[in-house]
Amino acid sequence: MRAMPDLIPLNKAAPIRAVIGLAALLLLLLALPAPAAESRDAQSIPLVSIDQALAGWKLYDGWRFHVGDDPAWADPGFDDSQWQRVDLSHRWYPSQENASLFGWYRLRLQLTGDRETNEGRLAGLGVQLGQVLNAYELYLGGKRIGGVGRLPPSTATGINYDRKQIFPVPRSALSEEGELVLAIRVWAGSEVLGEHWGVGPYNGDFQLGRYDRLLIGLVVSEMPGLLLSTLCAAFGLYHLYLYWRNRHLDSLLWFGLLALAISVYSLMLNQWRTYLGWEFLVYKKLEFGAIYLVPPLSLQTVWRLLDEEMGLGLRLYQLSFLVMGFIWLVIPGLEIHLQTLLLWQLWLLPALALTGWLVISRARRGHREARTILVGAIIFIGACLHDILLDLKTEGTGRLIPLGFFAFLMSMAVSLANRFTAILQGLEARVAERTDELEAANRLLTEAARIDPLTGLLNRRGFIAEAGSEIRRVFRTRRSFSVVLTDIDHFKSVNDRYGHATGDHVLSRVASLLSDEIRDVDKLARWGGEEFILLLPETEPEGAAVLAGKLRERIAGNLFEYDGQRLGVTMTFGVSEFRRGESLESCIARADAALYRGKGEGRDRVVLGLATGVA
Ligand code: GH3
Ligand code: MG
Ligand code: MG
Repeated sequence: MRAMPDLIPLNKAAPIRAVIGLAALLLLLLALPAPAAESRDAQSIPLVSIDQALAGWKLYDGWRFHVGDDPAWADPGFDDSQWQRVDLSHRWYPSQENASLFGWYRLRLQLTGDRETNEGRLAGLGVQLGQVLNAYELYLGGKRIGGVGRLPPSTATGINYDRKQIFPVPRSALSEEGELVLAIRVWAGSEVLGEHWGVGPYNGDFQLGRYDRLLIGLVVSEMPGLLLSTLCAAFGLYHLYLYWRNRHLDSLLWFGLLALAISVYSLMLNQWRTYLGWEFLVYKKLEFGAIYLVPPLSLQTVWRLLDEEMGLGLRLYQLSFLVMGFIWLVIPGLEIHLQTLLLWQLWLLPALALTGWLVISRARRGHREARTILVGAIIFIGACLHDILLDLKTEGTGRLIPLGFFAFLMSMAVSLANRFTAILQGLEARVAERTDELEAANRLLTEAARIDPLTGLLNRRGFIAEAGSEIRRVFRTRRSFSVVLTDIDHFKSVNDRYGHATGDHVLSRVASLLSDEIRDVDKLARWGGEEFILLLPETEPEGAAVLAGKLRERIAGNLFEYDGQRLGVTMTFGVSEFRRGESLESCIARADAALYRGKGEGRDRVVLGLATGVA
């Protein structure tokens, strides 16, 4: 407690002392003379060993930059120490005060190491430059090595900024002392372009290295993009082919077109596009043309996949993209795109929101395909937002949109596959159902083919089939069967006197009277008009004649009533026995002959084939 009074003044003094200390430090820093900074700059020429240079030396720091244009600035001996110090990437914006559309970037390097022994290796040195807005020339050791695009004073000027380039470093570019000066002359192309995007190096690798390794590195780094583009193209064409074969499945068409648009877009972003040998503006027109097509095609595909109707508002929204894309294509130059890019990005937000809303609400309702698309949509929207933020910032590095596109496309492909699998399963189920129905109908038809509709008895065809199996049984059991053929006497006059309907009634009544009298194993059929036939298994002809006698009595004793009329009929019966080895026809022919004899002998009787008739 006693220490407190001493401590309080001390604590009060501490902030004051700190402030005084900081002020003194600041003064000291400010007082440091400019030449001191100069000398630090002079010493800061990066020292790079030949080994480091060949292994890959990043060229991001230590650059000098100046707006304007002077051929003398390419000279390695030029003193750029008064120029602005910058690191890459670095862009400048041509303005009113500084109207020049040109700017120069210079970098001084000192290669260290024994040059005599490394002479051969130095011949393989190369320099890689990333993307530079909007066109540039590269000078090494004062000599123009190459560049991207065509700068003034060339009359055929042309910008070209999305290009990564690798240049060999000629031995003559290195001074005797091993100094290498890189000078890049950059051109804005036009005021509008410069004002919107800025001018200068903005993306990609800037490095020294072995020329061959740099080339391979560039080729390898551009492979995934090329692969993506090729995959999308193959996907697109494949689905268009499928659509061509199945014109009613228009989801295939939209999906195919979407995949092709994404393929074109990602190819136009890829360095391999230069092998097409077209003008830079053509690549750009195609690239932006493709991104104007993607939103309406995506909406179309998603809505189609989820079986949703598109309202008029949505149709107009889709149309707006097509109109914008068309305007962008036909208006010459790139400026139109610069002026509309932000608009396009903002105009895209409703599409993202709508798709997100539809997919989420359907996924929550348990729609399986919506869930699949949701995964792709989340990746896609994430990639879009990433790239929009990237554009709002000035620094431009790795765009994710192509990957987002691909993820979205894949989710749609999976959903499409699920959809067709479901359709296929539905079809298979229907085919199975139809097959069952057909089989049932077939059974009915077969049945109908062997049944007589008036009497419900077997018809001639049905009888022959049944008799066939009976004949096979005779061969197994060695017990034969008898056949009884019977015919209604004077049936024509029944028809004539009582009418055809009464005739029909008599026929069906006779059929049921006959059925009532026989056993289950006996087969009764309508042989023709008013003729019936009986097959009696394991029955001797004598037994068959007895049964026929009973039937004859039953019919003769029956009074048929129809439509208030009463009548009686008689029947004549012919009996024969099936002999092993003979055909059914010959057996029936004998019964028929017996029946014929019965008719001749006065009708209403039973006659045994090849035997004496029994009254
Ligand atoms: P028979 O004693 O010699 O057998 O004389 P029938 O008149 O019975 O012989 P015929 O063969 O001359 O006549 C058979 C008649 O049976 C002729 C035909 O009009 C009649 N008929 C055949 N099928 C049907 C049918 O399904 N319904 C009707 N109502 N009549 C039939
Ligand atoms: Mg008859
Ligand atoms: Mg007859």
